[in-house]
Amino acid sequence: MKITDIKATTVTVPLEAPLRHAAGCHWGRFVRTIVEVETDEGITGLGEMGGGGESAEAAFRAMKGYLVGHDPARLEEMRFKIANPTASLYNNRTQILAALEFACLDILGKKWNVPVHEILGGRLQSEVPFASYLFFRYAHPRTGEGEVRTVDQLVQHARELKEKYGFTSHKLKGGVFHPEYELRCYQALAEELGSDTQSGDSFRFDPNASWSTEQAIWFGQQIENIRNDYFEDPVFGLHAMRRTREKVRMPLATNTVVVNFEQLAANVLDTAVDVILLDTTFWGGIRPCVKAAGVCETFQLGVAVHSSGELGIQLATMLHLGAVIPNLTFAADAHYHHLEDDIIVGGKFEYHEGRISVPTGPGLGVELDRDKLHEYGELYKRLGGYAYDKDPLRPDWSPVVPNTRWADPNDDRQPKIAY
Ligand SMILES: [Mg+2]
Repeated sequence: MKITDIKATTVTVPLEAPLRHAAGCHWGRFVRTIVEVETDEGITGLGEMGGGGESAEAAFRAMKGYLVGHDPARLEEMRFKIANPTASLYNNRTQILAALEFACLDILGKKWNVPVHEILGGRLQSEVPFASYLFFRYAHPRTGEGEVRTVDQLVQHARELKEKYGFTSHKLKGGVFHPEYELRCYQALAEELGSDTQSGDSFRFDPNASWSTEQAIWFGQQIENIRNDYFEDPVFGLHAMRRTREKVRMPLATNTVVVNFEQLAANVLDTAVDVILLDTTFWGGIRPCVKAAGVCETFQLGVAVHSSGELGIQLATMLHLGAVIPNLTFAADAHYHHLEDDIIVGGKFEYHEGRISVPTGPGLGVELDRDKLHEYGELYKRLGGYAYDKDPLRPDWSPVVPNTRWADPNDDRQPKIAY
C-alpha cells in the first residue's frame, strides 16, 4: 500500500464557555487541524493536530514531498523521514508526525479490519475513566451563561458535571488567580464533593507551572489532607519539581517537563516527578506513548493520559492508548466535555459513569462527518485563530514565570469575544 495524498482542514468548534488558564484563555472555541491521508487502495486514515490555519495546512501539504509513495505500515521509517532527531533541531515536526501516525494506524486498522488497540498489543480494558477537568471560565459570549469565577460557581459547576457525566476524579486548572484564592477554591471543591472515603472521589490540581518553588511547597503542604491523585506541574523545571517533591507529601505529575524520552531518562536517573502524563500529540504519536508507558512500568512511575484539547479523532487516540497500557491507574484528562459539538459521525462520544468506551470499529473507529467538517471549517474561516497566550479581558497582560500578575477574582466583567 502506498500513500497518495495528504489533506489538511482547519476547523474551529465552539466550547460551552471560554476556558481560562495560567497563560491566557481558550477564547470560546478550539482550533484543530483535521488530517486525511489517502492511499492507492482507496483507504483513508484520519489524524488531528492542535492549532491550525494556512501554516498548518501548508505544513501537512509539504509532507507530501516526503510521504507520497510511502507504505503507511512503515511507521518507524516515517519517523526518521520527517522527524529525525538531529534534523528536528532545525525543524521540529513532532506534532505533525503524531497526526500522521494516527492516520497511518487508522489506515492499517481499516486494511486489517481490526481496531487500533489490537495493533498496539490488545486492550486490557474496554472503557477509559476520565476526570472532570474544571476550569475557571468566562461566561459564554452569546448567552452570558457558564461563568466560573467564585467558589460557589466552581462547586456548582463541579456538581453539575459529576451529575451529568459521573466523574469521580476532579481536576482543577489553576494558575489564574492568586494561589491563596485558588487554595480556597480547591479546598471547597474537595469538601463539597467529598474527598472522604465514603464518596471515594479524588482530586488533582494543576496551575500550569506558574508558581515559585516556595509557593508550590506552601500550597502543597496545605492540601496534604485531601485525597489527591497528584499535584500537577506546580512549578517549571525538573529541579524545581524535585525541590517541591522533597517537601510535599504527595505524588507530583507533569505534562510539561517530561514530554520526550530524554527527559524521561533524566527523570528516571534523578527522579523529580512521580506520574508522567502521556499526550499522544506531544510525544509524537500513540506508539511513543505506549513505549514511554513501558519505561514507566519498568521504573514503577505512574502514568496518566494528558489532554491538549481534542476533537473526536484525537480522543479516539487517547482511548486506544488508555485501553492498552497496563499501568494506567488514574482517570484520564479530557477537555472534551466542554465542547458543544464534534466533527465525527454520530456526534460526540458519550460518557457513562465517568467513562468512555474504547472504539471497536476498524482503525481508530471514528468517521468524519463531512457536513460538520465543512461547517466548522467555514466557522474557522470566519473567526480565524485566537491568541491562546492572551487574556481577552486584559489585552496588555502577559504572565511571567513564576507569575505574580494574577487575575482579580472580584472582577466580574465579561470579555467581548467574536462568535
Ligand atoms: Mg497539565
